Amino acid sequence: MTAEFAEIREAVARLCADFPGRYWRERDRVRAYPKEFVDALADSGFLAVLIPEEYGGSGLGVRAASAVLEEVHRSGCNGAACHAQMYTMGTLLKHGSDAQKRQYLPQIASGGLRLQAFGVTEPTSGTDTTRIRTTAVRDGDFYRVSGQKVFISRTEHSDLMLLLARTTPRDRVAKPTDGMSVFIVDLRTAVGNGLTIKPLATMMNHATTELFFDNLAVPAENLVGLEGKGFGYILDSMNVERILIASECIGDARWFIAKATAYATERQVFGRPIGQNQGIQFPIARSYAQTEAAALMVQKAAALFDGGEKCGAEANMAKMLAADASKEAADVCVQTHGGYGFAEEYDVERKFRETRLYQVAPVSTNLILSYIGTHVLGMPKSF
Ligand SMILES: Cc1cc2nc3c(=O)[nH]c(=O)nc-3n(C[C@H](O)[C@H](O)[C@H](O)COP(=O)(O)OP(=O)(O)OC[C@H]3O[C@@H](n4cnc5c(N)ncnc54)[C@H](O)[C@@H]3O)c2cc1C
Repeated sequence: MTAEFAEIREAVARLCADFPGRYWRERDRVRAYPKEFVDALADSGFLAVLIPEEYGGSGLGVRAASAVLEEVHRSGCNGAACHAQMYTMGTLLKHGSDAQKRQYLPQIASGGLRLQAFGVTEPTSGTDTTRIRTTAVRDGDFYRVSGQKVFISRTEHSDLMLLLARTTPRDRVAKPTDGMSVFIVDLRTAVGNGLTIKPLATMMNHATTELFFDNLAVPAENLVGLEGKGFGYILDSMNVERILIASECIGDARWFIAKATAYATERQVFGRPIGQNQGIQFPIARSYAQTEAAALMVQKAAALFDGGEKCGAEANMAKMLAADASKEAADVCVQTHGGYGFAEEYDVERKFRETRLYQVAPVSTNLILSYIGTHVLGMPKSF
């Protein structure tokens, strides 16, 4: 860890200290968006670490962004309320026009504009993104968007959304990944004018929603890059998303391990600390080793990305290993706490629910294994 990141981590930890378990429990109980936390993170500039300095950000890389989100989670907070602002940026930064960057990035960097939503998943296509049915059809100076998305998070708390839609039917393109395009949708004007947002309650407080598009007019100037090339554009964002969510999982795992270690040392049963029993101590130790190994893969993936090198395999492996480490650490932490692991006031059950998501989103473990099996090891694809 460099001194620079140590400073970032300390500053993030200080900010997070103002948002203790009580704050997150209350929001979780009523499923309220943690606006105060997100505002504090945005005001401090931490959500703008990936935005170049010329547009008002810090111009740092994914390694720095990873440090921010890992620290948020290690402190017991939850970056899910705002992490998309960091990874959606990649698409805009790399493929947006100069005009788009000048229009949006300085405002996003200053916290005046929120780019928190990334609309890809659909009810009928699921993981098979090339089969999305949401279409965008050119109509003069506009595209007309129709279709449906599901599990699109933070749309009620974001000003802008990056949307993936089909601009050429799948049966009229050379490759299934061709013919999809990315648009910047201004949610402030879209809602009520062709876009309906419906909240979707989930097992944790995640502000996710269903979206219904009915002929929504999106200005043609909001197309990002070239028409039909959108899938390739979002892959960069997806690699950053995997690395950053892996960092959050590492932060979660470290929080669970610290919590379990402290409780195992304090809690006396049968006249001795429960952590003296190897049945309690060894699972925590194993989980620690697993977490540290996963953290190395996360660092490797982030360094490759920052160095401009290919990182698809490493980003996927980092996400899977870190999500496995946090799931295991969560389970060990609940077990160490006995009945108290289920009591709200310990925050363990809440964090357990929150970290469980990362076995499924943003890409499920099976799909990562399939990527490794076919793209990295060259075995035949099962689908
Ligand atoms: C809380 C939450 C927030 C989310 N936020 C967003 C968001 O902001 N934006 C967005 O676009 N999406 C979001 N998602 C969607 C998420 O990315 C998807 O749920 C995820 O990609 C899986 O898609 P699916 O739910 O359609 O599962 P399906 O594709 O239906 O898969 C179901 C299960 O089958 C497995 N499976 C499918 N095909 C295969 C195969 N060929 N081989 C082996 N196993 C297979 C999968 O691994 C999975 O375990 C969110 C989801 C949740 C739950």
